[in-house]
Amino acid sequence: MKIPIYMDNHATTPVDPRVLEAMLPYFSERFGNAASRNHSFGWEAEAAVDEARQQIARLIHASSPKEIVFTSGATESDNLAIKGVADAYKENGNHIITCATEHKAVLDCCKTLERRGYRVTYLPVDSFGLVSPEQVRAAITDKTVLISIMAANNEIGTLHPIREIGQIAKERGVLFHTDAVQAVGRVPVDVEAMGADLLSLTAHKMYGPKGVGALYVRSKRPKVRLTPLFDGGGHEGGVRAGTLNVAGIVGLGKACEIAEAEMPEEARRLAELRERLKDGILRELDQVQINGHPTERLPGNMNLSFAFVEGESLLMGLKEIAVSSGSACTSAALEPSHVLRAIGMAEDLAHTAIRFGLGRFNTVEEVDYTSRRVAEEVRRLRSLSPLYAAKAKGQRRGDDELKLQGRVS
Ligand SMILES: *Cc1c(COP(=O)(O)O)cnc(C)c1O
Repeated sequence: MKIPIYMDNHATTPVDPRVLEAMLPYFSERFGNAASRNHSFGWEAEAAVDEARQQIARLIHASSPKEIVFTSGATESDNLAIKGVADAYKENGNHIITCATEHKAVLDCCKTLERRGYRVTYLPVDSFGLVSPEQVRAAITDKTVLISIMAANNEIGTLHPIREIGQIAKERGVLFHTDAVQAVGRVPVDVEAMGADLLSLTAHKMYGPKGVGALYVRSKRPKVRLTPLFDGGGHEGGVRAGTLNVAGIVGLGKACEIAEAEMPEEARRLAELRERLKDGILRELDQVQINGHPTERLPGNMNLSFAFVEGESLLMGLKEIAVSSGSACTSAALEPSHVLRAIGMAEDLAHTAIRFGLGRFNTVEEVDYTSRRVAEEVRRLRSLSPLYAAKAKGQRRGDDELKLQGRVS
């Protein structure tokens, strides 16, 4: 087993060696510009891009590869989808529906649109992180032009009822975008079954390279119109100008092909590792809370709160294991994650949360080492905590009282 252990696969994933191998020729002998229509270098690059478009379309069940628009990543895909629709459909209305646990790429787009005079409804979620389709339905007005709800949450792994939401959007004739970054390649994604009109994905969360992503844009029933974010060159059907990142796109395509072939087996293996990690930790420690949904969650995601232990302190004690805390560093202070706050968690407990993101290259040995080290470190930090000591004493006193009453032995 190699140290450090990487267990933060929702932040980014390592590039699969097969992806790297597929990309390499496009940095050297096959360096052409996919927009060069008049020589073999350009044709070769264009053919590679076309193949990647097909690989992506197959994975998400798009009816045509032409519905795939390449971008610099999911932040751009989310911006293009939300701002692009808001502007192109401004004659139809100025209302957008999203939810409180979205990624900042979506939330910050919505904030910008609010400053420009749009109205945004941020739907709440329940304690598992689920948004209710009925609340989506109730929020729709005759001014609603877009619903944007993520497929899978990047912190707590909750899988939203996307099909039901897509169905409601269809019934009401409202466009539906889903940020499916964490879902694509990890769980089955089907734009037809989901009723998605726009879908964001990115390569570096699915064992491809950073800086390349895609936006699925439905071309029929309905044909979605988008105002481009920037001008120049008319690439990608006039929706996204700029010379294509051919090597990156080849990598994204290859990553999709691998995901399609290996997803069922990989999802099963990761869910097993996740349960093993959870069981290993829960066996050793009391006062641990599971955040997110017990079943409707990403196979590789486990998010746990360790009461009386600051997540940041725990991370400092676990330097050889790469995981994330439930706190986000802002300019002013350590803020609790907006996702944990949205599921109703108190601020102090949110600061005790740790996100474990298991991925393709994690092993049983790494999981067992991690659960052992987490238990050790949490025990050490709790032994320094007066609050935990007081709590344990209270517990013992409670137990003694129960013993006196003959209820426990
Ligand atoms: C990582 C992530 C993004 C941003 O993707 P980039 O390609 O890094 O810009 C957007 N949404 C979700 C849910 C993510 O996890």
